[in-house]
Amino acid sequence: MKSLFPWHRAAFNTIVSRTDRLPPGLLLVGGRGAGKLRFANHLARALLCTREPQGCGTCPQCVQFMLGHHPDFHVLTTRGTLDTHGDSPIKGGERYLAGTGRAVSGRTITVDQIRALTGALALTAHGPGSKVVLIMTADDMNSNAANALLKALEEPADNTFFLMACREPTQIAATIRSRCMVVPLGAPPASVVRKHLTDLKSSTQTLLDRAMTVGLDCPEIAETIILAEAEAGEGGGLGMEWACAITPEGNIRAEALTHLDSEQLGLVLPRVQQAICRQIRFQLMTIKDAELGELSRSSARSFTAYREIGRFLAATPGTVDDTLFVEHILTALE
Ligand SMILES: [Zn+2]
Repeated sequence: MKSLFPWHRAAFNTIVSRTDRLPPGLLLVGGRGAGKLRFANHLARALLCTREPQGCGTCPQCVQFMLGHHPDFHVLTTRGTLDTHGDSPIKGGERYLAGTGRAVSGRTITVDQIRALTGALALTAHGPGSKVVLIMTADDMNSNAANALLKALEEPADNTFFLMACREPTQIAATIRSRCMVVPLGAPPASVVRKHLTDLKSSTQTLLDRAMTVGLDCPEIAETIILAEAEAGEGGGLGMEWACAITPEGNIRAEALTHLDSEQLGLVLPRVQQAICRQIRFQLMTIKDAELGELSRSSARSFTAYREIGRFLAATPGTVDDTLFVEHILTALE
């Protein structure tokens, strides 16, 4: 489990010190990469733990949670989110995706999932502590799902908590918001992030600058870059170039390619090709008929980028103009 960001520690301590007075819903608000999931994970563990308010990390409740199969921890998410975060406790979200079909569940949390969840919540708790539901993210609920969830929030059961990660609170129905405690998890000033990265691993100034530039407003990415480089230095792992060009969610950060030299491009571009394939596959899986025109346009661009990369990789080193080539790819990826 990833550590809490230090700037989220105070909010975390405040919440776990007053669990007897919490509303049934907590809305964890932050942009992409702000650390919503790690905050939710720490909070869920704390609420399930029966030994320490902050979660002891060693009792049977904590251990079960960290292994990803605590029976009183429930996750509602989408197939898309699971595909990109599958290694964390949210893989428990598979349970409520079963039977909903890939096409429907690609990027929407459906009313069927909420109903299956409330059915499960109606049963007695398996463990001695609370029941915790993580919704990742609440923005992905359609209106039917939101209405069904509202019912659950209106008639809260004892010791049942809904942790709702949320990118854009104005997208959440006011009736739901009013029943939640809003926990802002925005990115802190750049100097605070930089200090955190420095404490995390000893890094060169260049690497720090680069992590801060690429991971601007997104501490998850900045941290990934620093840690990936450390891992690469130890003889394996992803390497900084890869981390710069591909986000932890698997999206391509085209602008990061412009910083790379020819040798680095040779290392990174095969991964970019993989990411393009994954993106196209995901789009094909989740597309609605009305969006087919837009998909074919963006796919055509992706295929161009894919082909351009192939040409670069096949060329004898030194025979292709790197700058011109990266420009071609960027145009295709835009
Ligand atoms: Zn514990």
